[in-house]
Amino acid sequence: MEGKVYTGEDYKTKFNPRDYLKTYYAFDSGTVAENEILKFLLNNLFETFSPGGVGGDILIDVGTGPTIYQLLSACEAFREIIVSDYLELNLREADKWLKKEPGAYDWSPAVQYVCELEGDRSKWQEKEARLQRTVTRLLTCDVNQPRPLGSAQVPAVDCVLTLLALECACRDVDAYQAAIRSLVGLLKPGGHLVTSVALHLQNYMVGHSKFFGLPLEKETVEKALQEAGCQVLKSQYSPINYSEAYCINEGLYFVVARKDPGA
Ligand code: SAH
Repeated sequence: MEGKVYTGEDYKTKFNPRDYLKTYYAFDSGTVAENEILKFLLNNLFETFSPGGVGGDILIDVGTGPTIYQLLSACEAFREIIVSDYLELNLREADKWLKKEPGAYDWSPAVQYVCELEGDRSKWQEKEARLQRTVTRLLTCDVNQPRPLGSAQVPAVDCVLTLLALECACRDVDAYQAAIRSLVGLLKPGGHLVTSVALHLQNYMVGHSKFFGLPLEKETVEKALQEAGCQVLKSQYSPINYSEAYCINEGLYFVVARKDPGA
């Protein structure tokens, strides 16, 4: 149907991982706005997970999608990474890259970019191998459930990472706050929640399918984190927007928060 906005279960039939990658992660060969957004995210992730920053035993990425760029700095700072998404198909796409299967998405421009930030662009293949070793599990999840990981046995983690996912998955601000609370519930006391949000999101395109986006403000994000028992340690705003033909948003927000160590 023309103009229908997809949400919830529609993801299972309408979200095409390859279309998503082509539109938003073509990097060097893609559109300027999408490249700038990816660089904003990679720069912030590099700062967050560099030595002396956020690190530890286990990191779980929630709403991973078909992408791995968000783990390129984190794989240097954690012993183990768990990825999770609502869609099996997205996990399958990420797994293709992790297992170096034929037809896997080529992330090498992003990997090289991160290696350059770290000081040696030539080490990109080592980084790919490290990330491929560090991801130990791929789990399905639903952030709209009180237990997002269902019955999967996962110990309390040092870091929850969730980029550009909750504003796609949650229908309203109450659901967003509840999702933040349940993600904070996965953390050890003193653990970190690292998130990035496309602010004032209205909707976004994946191929010819239009998906719902929840319009969030900076203050709503911070309030949800505080109400879930976290202190916001760092927040970085950028006024960059996606290309209008793909996605309607107003700026991007990157936040690092810490769960109360006494919780
Ligand atoms: N983190 C990736 C993907 C974001 S796209 C990136 O930075 O590009 C939004 C993602 O949210 C999709 O992968 C989609 O499958 C996932 N998603 C949608 N509903 C969800 C839900 N209820 N629980 C968890 N993830 C969900």
